[in-house]
Amino acid sequence: MEGDREHIRLEMESRSSNEEFARVAAVFMSRLDPTLEEMDDVKTAVSEAVTNAVIHGYREKCGTVVMELTADRTERSLTVEVTDQGTGIKDIKKAMEPMYTTDRSGERSGMGFAFMEAFMDEITVESEAGCGTKVTMKKYIGR
Ligand code: ATP
Ligand code: MG
Repeated sequence: MEGDREHIRLEMESRSSNEEFARVAAVFMSRLDPTLEEMDDVKTAVSEAVTNAVIHGYREKCGTVVMELTADRTERSLTVEVTDQGTGIKDIKKAMEPMYTTDRSGERSGMGFAFMEAFMDEITVESEAGCGTKVTMKKYIGR
């Protein structure tokens, strides 16, 4: 049923500090009556996706990161899409392996995708080298 779906779209600059807008996802999902744990899971997963867009997608240069949220009351689910038009990912399967990172500074542990997979029920990554990346994640509330 169309009326049971709500959608918002947030466009932000590719700044590391903008990962804090993952909170917006937690606030938005409150209409689905989540537990605090479910809200925390979403916050963590979205923050990882936004951080990846800023750091890997745009390599900390300027660009636009878009976060789209859809709440489905009938299904009691939240869908989050995080999109960048940055470098893209050559080998998605490899990138999603736990502990895989292209970071050479030693600061990253390669666990971002592993957290997203652990904290959300579904995750799909679409990417094209040189074009950008879209991460779609879905969480069912109350399961
Ligand atoms: P951590 O998340 O633990 O700080 P990480 O970011 O390297 O480390 P993941 O989040 O699992 O680990 O990502 C794995 C790899 O996938 C990254 O090192 C990067 O090469 C690639 N990647 C992830 N997201 C993007 C993106 N939006 N654009 C380009 N490459 C990406
Ligand atoms: Mg990461």
